[in-house]
Amino acid sequence: MEPVLVSACLQGVPCRFDGRGKASAAVTGAVGDRRPVAFCPEVAAGLPTPRRPAEIVGGDGHDVLDGRARVVDDTGHDVTEEFVDGARRALEAARRAGCTEALLMARSPSCGRGTVYDGTFTGELREGDGVTAALLERHGITVRPAPGG
Ligand code: SF4
Repeated sequence: MEPVLVSACLQGVPCRFDGRGKASAAVTGAVGDRRPVAFCPEVAAGLPTPRRPAEIVGGDGHDVLDGRARVVDDTGHDVTEEFVDGARRALEAARRAGCTEALLMARSPSCGRGTVYDGTFTGELREGDGVTAALLERHGITVRPAPGG
């Protein structure tokens, strides 16, 4: 079966910042008959669960990778290094499993594709990718946001 990298929380793993997972029939349908490779970049980077919510300040995941923006949690603690490390680990996992596509959690500062929170912790969104989504795209892995948010 063809492998597809999937945000672990979308597979029901309780790894979100709030200690929950987010499996859904829509995601199961989007995976289809492919083999899901569940991965959580933030946990892989050693961040705890639950953890403080984090957002990208000053840009999106591409800007983080280029050193123009950073990732901070809602206490102001800088977690940029962990988010970049998690992205690298996700890329390694995708390559190891032979994934050419990833189905990732919408709006996350790691996994978001096309839209992420804007760094103000007010629920506002901006165009852009999370750090992991940006790194995967840069290395030729097609990233799709999970259906249903
Ligand atoms: S980093 Fe990605 S896989 Fe991990 S909890 Fe956040 S959205 Fe889910």
